[in-house]
Amino acid sequence: MLSSRGPGSQVEVVLVYQSLLGIYGDRGNATVLMKRLAWRGYDPLLTVVEPGDPLPDTGHVYLLGGGEDAAQISAVRALAADGGLHRAADRGAAVLAVCAGYQIVGKTFTVGDQDEVIEGLGLLDVTTTRGPVRAVGEMLSRWEDADGEEQWITGFENHGGYTQLGPGAVPLAQVQIGVGNCNDGTEGAVAGTVIGTYPHGPVLARNPALADHVLSVAIGRTLPPLVRPEVNELRRERLSAVRKLAR
Ligand code: GLN
Repeated sequence: MLSSRGPGSQVEVVLVYQSLLGIYGDRGNATVLMKRLAWRGYDPLLTVVEPGDPLPDTGHVYLLGGGEDAAQISAVRALAADGGLHRAADRGAAVLAVCAGYQIVGKTFTVGDQDEVIEGLGLLDVTTTRGPVRAVGEMLSRWEDADGEEQWITGFENHGGYTQLGPGAVPLAQVQIGVGNCNDGTEGAVAGTVIGTYPHGPVLARNPALADHVLSVAIGRTLPPLVRPEVNELRRERLSAVRKLAR
């Protein structure tokens, strides 16, 4: 975890490789973090990094989104060459990696009909291989926040890869509706300040408690609650939509 930062201080949100990992609208996660910081009196700074540009070593939170297989391979190669995401995780910055991003920060993932094995960054002890059916649809999972409070995460998943956790990673959440990691009842993975997860939505727009968790890791302190009626309304609507699927 980084040293504690209070209101008024600058917090840098790094959006990683939008041109490769931007097809599911996960950029919205950056918008949500910027807004939630500004509403609390912080000075948020958005840094957008594309392949070929070095990742800054000054970021407090690094965001990776979903993408197609070919883009995913380009992204992992560029990130491995850069080394900045490893340095970020080593110094305790928060990393939120969604879908293809999640697979990238794992140990290996496979692509194509020949199941070619691609090395990941190894920030999470997870491996991804082609699943029996593509996981597509709304999902709901149960997450326990840092205070042990039960929270519900909604989003939509769209992935062909199924992810298995090794002993060095713990699941982020338990699946109630959807496939999640690999139909084993688990969703996502956590190790230290690195979080991998499957839902798009963007996930932080739909799940403000998760957004604040990522921020509190990034700034090294718990944040006071925020009451935003429009955020609550979106949440109520998405929870009711996904719960109808369970009936
Ligand atoms: N290409 C990966 C898969 O299908 C990730 C897809 C995504 O990011 N939505 O498993």
